[in-house]
Amino acid sequence: MSYINENFMELQDSYLFSTIAKKVAKYTQEHPDKKVIKLGIGDVTRPLATACIEAMHKAVDEMSTQNNFKGYGPEQGYEFLRKAIAKNDYESRGITIEEDEIFVSDGAKCDTGNIVDIFAKENKVAITDPVYPVYLDTNVMSGRSGKYNKQTETYENIEYLPVMAENDFKPELPKQKVDMIYLCFPNNPTGTVLTKEELKKWIDYAKQNNSIILYDSAYEAFITEPNIPHSIYEIEGAKDVAIEFRSYSKTAGFTGIRCAYVVIPKQLKGYTKQGEEVSYNKLWNRRTCTKFNGASYIVQKAAEAIYTKEGQKQIKENIQYYMENAKIIREGLEKAGIKYYGGVNAPYVWLKVPQGMTSWEFFDKLLEEANIVGTPGSGFGPHGEGYFRLTAFGTKESTQEAMERIKKLKI
Ligand code: PLP
Repeated sequence: MSYINENFMELQDSYLFSTIAKKVAKYTQEHPDKKVIKLGIGDVTRPLATACIEAMHKAVDEMSTQNNFKGYGPEQGYEFLRKAIAKNDYESRGITIEEDEIFVSDGAKCDTGNIVDIFAKENKVAITDPVYPVYLDTNVMSGRSGKYNKQTETYENIEYLPVMAENDFKPELPKQKVDMIYLCFPNNPTGTVLTKEELKKWIDYAKQNNSIILYDSAYEAFITEPNIPHSIYEIEGAKDVAIEFRSYSKTAGFTGIRCAYVVIPKQLKGYTKQGEEVSYNKLWNRRTCTKFNGASYIVQKAAEAIYTKEGQKQIKENIQYYMENAKIIREGLEKAGIKYYGGVNAPYVWLKVPQGMTSWEFFDKLLEEANIVGTPGSGFGPHGEGYFRLTAFGTKESTQEAMERIKKLKI
């Protein structure tokens, strides 16, 4: 008989996107004449930058020749890409990151999920609430969460840090001493950010408590305001306490191409129970070499092309396009008298649902009366209740049309 990993029994089924899909399918079947606008799922819609397409074509051709054919590459990523990352994403901001502190992968979802492998089960974890669900579920799977409490919708061993209008979406420092802290800024789902000074408080906390910050900056390319850090390493001392996750998914429309990276500074240390210091970089390198055979050469060539002059110009045009949509959403909500947050440094707008309604009730109202699909905030955690996420990843025309319909909505 084989026994299962019983930690999986503690996972809560997420019905969020499947419930949305079912509701939308039912509505469109019953109302085939209605044009439903989808501003729900966080996937990009603009085609890839030409620079990336050309780089991939070239890489494919290389594969057809005896001299340039590539088989297995380095598990940590090709040197050409790690060099480009160190130079363009870090050196350009005055941050020194060495190539062997960068690990290229096939997505930040895998990286933020797999990172739990190198941490002890006994570590106390803090996550913001609402949250990108991967951080929570992977800690449940690896046995760090304890039991689920149906009433509070929380796990006993996880400290939830509420982010809501009352605290301006800035999480407060944990009440108990925690060892691992997940932070994501610009934030999914709230679209809000922390300033350098606000992030500094977290570095100080981590230093005082010997904790590690797992910093997801998948949306840094959408930052438009000054004094908002693109990387946690812009804050002094962060290399002693933080791991940073980056993704090309939203930055360059790579959701279908798949490429991301994680930075683990060599000075970042964890401890054995006997108090011996161990480098997390070494552990992650060992894990990567054992479980991963590297992102594809063709994809890494596409990622390298992002850093060329043309690549930068092209991806910035796409980001600007999405941020124009975010502006259209913000202005539309303003006119409709709906309170909202985010959408300035992130492609997400987080709105407060009209008083007396739940996130799902607002979902139904928006679908039925305005034929618009968004994402109920409660699907991202208990403190997401009463909020609703709209994304800027649609077309300009459909975003404009959606906001015209929202303005006419009786609230
Ligand atoms: N991190 C956050 C906060 C995200 O919202 C997403 C995707 O939606 C990811 C990571 C996943 O990125 P990737 O496509 O690189 O797996």
